[in-house]
Amino acid sequence: MSANRELFTDGPAGHIATVLLPMPLPEAFDYAVPEGLTLAEGDHVVVPLGKRLVNGVVWGLRDGAGGNRPLKPVAERLDAPPLSAATRQFVDWTTRYLAELPGNVLRSVLRSQGALQPSPVEVVYRASGTPPERLTAARARVLEVAAGEPLTAAELARRAGVSAGVVKGLADAGALLAEERAVDPPFDAPDPYRDGLALNDGQEAASAQLRRLIAAGGFQAALLDGVTGSGKTEVYFEAIAELLRREPDAQVLVLLPEIALTQAVTARFEARFGAEPALWHSALGGTGRRRAWREIAAGRARIVAGARSAIFMPFRNLRLIIVDEEHDPTYKQDDGLTYQARDLAVARGKLEGACVILASATPSLESLVNARAGRYVHIRLEARAGTAMLPVIETLDLREFPPEPGHWLSEPLVREMAETLVRGEQVLLYLNRRGYAPLVLCRACGHKMKSPDTDRWLVEHRYTGRLICHTTGFSMPKPRACPECGTVDSLTSVGPGVERVAEEAALRFPDAVVEVFSSDTAMGAEGVRELVARMERGEIDILVGTQIAAKGHNFPNLTLVGVVDADIGLSGGDLRAGERTYQTLVQAAGRAGRADRPGKAILQTHDPDHEAIAALVAGDREAFLSLETLMREQLGLPPFGRMAALILSGMDEGLLVTTAKAAAAAAPLSDDVKLFGPAEPPLAVVRGRHRRRFLVQAGRNVDVSAFMATWMARFRLPSSIRARVDIEPYSFL
Ligand code: ADP
Repeated sequence: MSANRELFTDGPAGHIATVLLPMPLPEAFDYAVPEGLTLAEGDHVVVPLGKRLVNGVVWGLRDGAGGNRPLKPVAERLDAPPLSAATRQFVDWTTRYLAELPGNVLRSVLRSQGALQPSPVEVVYRASGTPPERLTAARARVLEVAAGEPLTAAELARRAGVSAGVVKGLADAGALLAEERAVDPPFDAPDPYRDGLALNDGQEAASAQLRRLIAAGGFQAALLDGVTGSGKTEVYFEAIAELLRREPDAQVLVLLPEIALTQAVTARFEARFGAEPALWHSALGGTGRRRAWREIAAGRARIVAGARSAIFMPFRNLRLIIVDEEHDPTYKQDDGLTYQARDLAVARGKLEGACVILASATPSLESLVNARAGRYVHIRLEARAGTAMLPVIETLDLREFPPEPGHWLSEPLVREMAETLVRGEQVLLYLNRRGYAPLVLCRACGHKMKSPDTDRWLVEHRYTGRLICHTTGFSMPKPRACPECGTVDSLTSVGPGVERVAEEAALRFPDAVVEVFSSDTAMGAEGVRELVARMERGEIDILVGTQIAAKGHNFPNLTLVGVVDADIGLSGGDLRAGERTYQTLVQAAGRAGRADRPGKAILQTHDPDHEAIAALVAGDREAFLSLETLMREQLGLPPFGRMAALILSGMDEGLLVTTAKAAAAAAPLSDDVKLFGPAEPPLAVVRGRHRRRFLVQAGRNVDVSAFMATWMARFRLPSSIRARVDIEPYSFL
């Protein structure tokens, strides 16, 4: 018996486990470790909480007495792979950085309860090779089906078109053999020795640089900065292959911005490595989630492709993180846990001692500044892969060529579209507005249709005939009469959404196949894949799409991109408005001419001299970036300064105002920190909850996370008021 064990049995002191629970609690709780139970840090355990038993993770172990009350004992240790030290450190780091509760961060890691148990097993049957004495037609059909892969009794019966009794009869007769199989099978191992595409010189040089980083080992960060269509994916595949050749047990995480894209990406992974990656995203069902989580935790899933939340997965041996399209705004999660997955990826890479590759054609200013400062290795790809050329970009001044009232396509664009279609090529019309019209108002009284209890216009959707709130999801059929003044047929649609532009395109080109592609076309993941496949095969002539159509796709026969409104996003209080507009337009234009035919992008604008648009046309990214950098530097905006927001919300506006005042009075004073607010934000009410915002702006060397944590501890929050801290906010609504 060890000395520790003697201490435990002989005296009042014993082993104490500090257990973190995945709940909004401020700290981990102490539990007694019962005699005979051996625990290690990171172990998954079941502990009593009040009258319930809950799952938690051992965060610390020590010897000692538990204070003046006896500690409750740990109930059980689960036989699941423990959370690695690096994963636990990442939870602690994220908690501090986001000024969050540790249990809320842990909850983002423990996303599948079922994964903590071994995979359930099911009984499957295969033909034994010995036919039964009595062979009916039904039995013969079952045996025919059973000659393929092993199947469950229900599935065998379904495919053979017989009752379950027939299958059972065959099993009893010894013609079918039963065997047990895990419901959640492991993922196939990737093969890093397969050949990839023959790389061009630029790609070869870039992958050689990445291979060197992988060979050096430890934390490394690289910015893979290559124009649209330059073949960045093939380049980072080389980094993955190099790593897996060196360390067969290594795990790789590839973060991707759009789940809709993962199908195309999955196929590319499969072609390169002979195995599908493990996928992780919010649309995954319970079984898929359970399987992916368990395989990642066990270290068996080698390549994981996921949406932003995959940064919290319980990797055992994470050696490489790739953030594809690192500039993409969807990496920022704005509700629930508020985080920027790209920033967390770099932090996790440091803690894991892993390599981090950020890839983009339009890197964020944050990453470019890091690259210039030498914190990231800057790897550039200047030309498109293969024979493809970058598209020519032109502006179309809407002041000179205004479309007719109620129309959105200007004549010169329509002419270009006609020429493109005559050549048998495809057109993408890009407009980042879902639905038919962004506003519905009454011609008689001027009433604007708004979402109930929310300060938002309702967006008209013609396909579904409904008015929808894009903030809360509220929807209603479009009424015939104005709810305000009662006038019938007075509600009119104002402004264009993709559905309306598609309507106009179809009127202009009655023989063309026109389709809408936006994230809410009620088509589901399967429908999205089908639409993308039809576009790839050239079965669609004109695709009218939001940003989901502008990201990452490869449509070889697409040669004309028309940006319906290049000015959207240039106004508004967002500090990244110019940068984001630039990125979006480059990405949209970048869909054109990706194969052997030259492409063209036409931007309809009222402001052709705006620096983002002028730089785009001139192909002068540096000019745009230096202006943008100068502006941010002078104003002390990120990445040259730090920011944080505090958002308070509550049903009772009076109480909210009082709380906001108290919060303002409690803010710690500091010469390096400027505090703005409380202010009523543009989105002042959501689902009946009133909102107030504070903005904290500080020098680069100020620890805004610590500032926010100190501040939050200095005022009392009434239970009906919610507070959300947003470190480095992207949304100012
Ligand atoms: P990016 O992510 O840089 O926009 P992709 O990696 O999607 O570019 O590549 C663009 C297209 O070029 C893809 O269809 C890809 O298969 C093709 N491609 C990439 N590298 C090569 C290469 N070396 N030879 C031929 N085709 C390539």
